[in-house]
Amino acid sequence: MRGRDGIEDKEPVRTRLADITLADITNERQEIIVAYELPPLPYDYAGLEPHIDEATMKLHHDKHHQTYVTNLNGAVEKHPELGNQSPEELIKNLASIPEDVRKVVQNNGGGHVNHTMFWQIMKPKGGGEPSGDIASQIKADFGDFESFKKLFNETTAKQFGSGWGWLIFEGGKLKIVTTANQDNPISQGHYPILGNDVWEHAYYLKYQNKRPDYLAAWWNTVNWDEINKRFATAKSYK
Ligand code: MN
Repeated sequence: MRGRDGIEDKEPVRTRLADITLADITNERQEIIVAYELPPLPYDYAGLEPHIDEATMKLHHDKHHQTYVTNLNGAVEKHPELGNQSPEELIKNLASIPEDVRKVVQNNGGGHVNHTMFWQIMKPKGGGEPSGDIASQIKADFGDFESFKKLFNETTAKQFGSGWGWLIFEGGKLKIVTTANQDNPISQGHYPILGNDVWEHAYYLKYQNKRPDYLAAWWNTVNWDEINKRFATAKSYK
């Protein structure tokens, strides 16, 4: 658009300035919002069939885990300094988290850490007898693998409502514990060696109300190499 004197009106200039300002704001917002990201599933959605079905894996990873990440980023938007910490660090010392987002971080930071571990400790064609150091520790503390599995499944089946069953290392011994919601043993100073998700979203499509059947089948997916790596970390965790 040109004015009477042949020089461009101010209108196009204002438009350009507005564009730049909008772009700047968008970039800044994106930087804050992506403090934490959903890690890709390390195998196909159908990779754990027939023990965990493809539809459950897709919903569980793409929707449920994504929601924890999105909500955690919402807390970081209010307190950007939180974004400098790893998700594990956030839930390790919940008392240091600003009170207005502490519960959000507990639930969604926990959800992010728990599910990131969960995808890694499973694998296609997993399961079988434990190997490595964890195998001898299970033998020492529970007698044999079958007795350990039975106790883990019974303890975890009894978790009322949504939560997780965990294996931790405390005082030189393995210990089975459960938590409600997305609470992680890290918040109590214990690095989890393995954990199984007993929220209904983890099993309901295939197993409906039969949590014990899901728990029994889940052992066919476990990745003992990854669990041995976590056991090594748990032994020196402070
Ligand atoms: Mn879950």
